Amino acid sequence: MKLIFERGGEGQSCTILPKCDVPELSLETSARKKELHLPQVCENEISRHYTELAKQVYGINHGFYPLGSCTMKYNPKIDEEIAAWPEFTEIHPLQPQETVQGCLEVLNTARKYLCEITGMDDMTFQPAAGAHGEFTGLLLIKAYHQSRRDTGRTKILIPDSAHGTNPASAVMAGFQVVNIPSGQDGCVDLEKLKEAAGKDTAGLMLTNPNTVGLFDKNIQEITSIIHEAGGITYYDGANLNAVMGIARPGDMGFDVVHLNLHKTFAAPHGGGGPGSGPVGCKSFLKEFLPGLQPREEEKGLTLQAPSRSIGAVKAFYGNFLVVVKALTYLLMLGKEGIPQAAENAVLNANYMMHKLKAFYPMAYPEPCMHEFVMSAEKLKREKGVSAVDIAKALQDCGIHPPTMYFPLIVHEALMIEPTETESRETLDQAIEAFCRVWEKAQEEPEKILSSPHYSGIKRPDEVQAARKPVLRYRFLAGAEKE
Ligand SMILES: *Cc1c(COP(=O)(O)O)cnc(C)c1O
Repeated sequence: MKLIFERGGEGQSCTILPKCDVPELSLETSARKKELHLPQVCENEISRHYTELAKQVYGINHGFYPLGSCTMKYNPKIDEEIAAWPEFTEIHPLQPQETVQGCLEVLNTARKYLCEITGMDDMTFQPAAGAHGEFTGLLLIKAYHQSRRDTGRTKILIPDSAHGTNPASAVMAGFQVVNIPSGQDGCVDLEKLKEAAGKDTAGLMLTNPNTVGLFDKNIQEITSIIHEAGGITYYDGANLNAVMGIARPGDMGFDVVHLNLHKTFAAPHGGGGPGSGPVGCKSFLKEFLPGLQPREEEKGLTLQAPSRSIGAVKAFYGNFLVVVKALTYLLMLGKEGIPQAAENAVLNANYMMHKLKAFYPMAYPEPCMHEFVMSAEKLKREKGVSAVDIAKALQDCGIHPPTMYFPLIVHEALMIEPTETESRETLDQAIEAFCRVWEKAQEEPEKILSSPHYSGIKRPDEVQAARKPVLRYRFLAGAEKE
């Protein structure tokens, strides 16, 4: 596809820019000495350019997108509509508090609902993403131990099924990571956990249901082991789709939780944001929360810094409009709709898992939560077709591939999360596509190995693309105008 610089030509222009409402400056009087490389295209060429770009992208509005652990679910458009209200967009963070009472109420109400859903006592909306929330939560844990002069607690225990951001955040927060192996059943190995927990344990970071889609049946014993050792328990709630409105991290024994509003609560995920990774905590940690917190007073809502705050982790109140979307979503679904969404997410995952079992070996065959993991290890050994080959072949079927090669504890992993927003018809079509690919891999593996056959980009050199990405357009020599 041509870049916009390669379209059009000298002198082409259009009038889609709004009227200039500032004094015009000529290039001669400005500091800029070189002419800008601006594309010169007429309106219909611009329209075609962006339509072509949109066609090259695959999003939830195009079709099924079962990217495990990422919850690529459909986000109702009403959430976007409400977040675009001028009452929410045309305000300033330094405006007097009495003039933005409605916005403070949004923050306060969303905080209350999400605290109720997670079983926490307070929450900050400052962090802008999941990993940012993890980092913030770990700083709370650190501040807590330091406040008690308990300085020997330097280690964070993390199960080997964890999302890669967990150990990265722990290291960034200045902790050492201790890897806890999973047992044969995909859950935390209790004996190994007991051996690792001790006087140097600052805390544990855990995802439940974990990244293989299993709810750890020993969860309360796990959190007790950490508490008895004097550590703090951290719940990675990036993806709350399986348990929202049904089981609360607070009741499982967790002290700190982060959520990804951009996975579970109606903000689109992917594409670079904006996101929101609110962090909730039990009351013994709330004095350490970052930023300003809404407080109810007689004269209305005010914003106050917690007494021993760790400081700001982002400017002002985080990505406020993402919170508006989440609150709209919560209000639209209500206390009946939220658990129903979770139940449907689990039902859809089990439906697909059950149907695909006859073809693909499951890493953990028992019923799953919102996602499940298949393994292409045997297929690779027998036919030379690996997880990535299956993913490429699925592109030819018009569906987005599942997550590949994660979690690391399953070889040739394909992790599927259908989400609750898909109909049975869509699931059946996807199941059929997966089965077709499997059968093709048995009969004509070479056809799978050479896929995708119908997409714009086929098999890029992924190592080069990651190590040496080409992110800049190089103008042809001579095109540079002095
Ligand atoms: C997505 C995810 C994260 C990271 O969230 P970001 O917003 O991408 O930083 C962390 N943990 C789990 C389990 C996740 O699924």
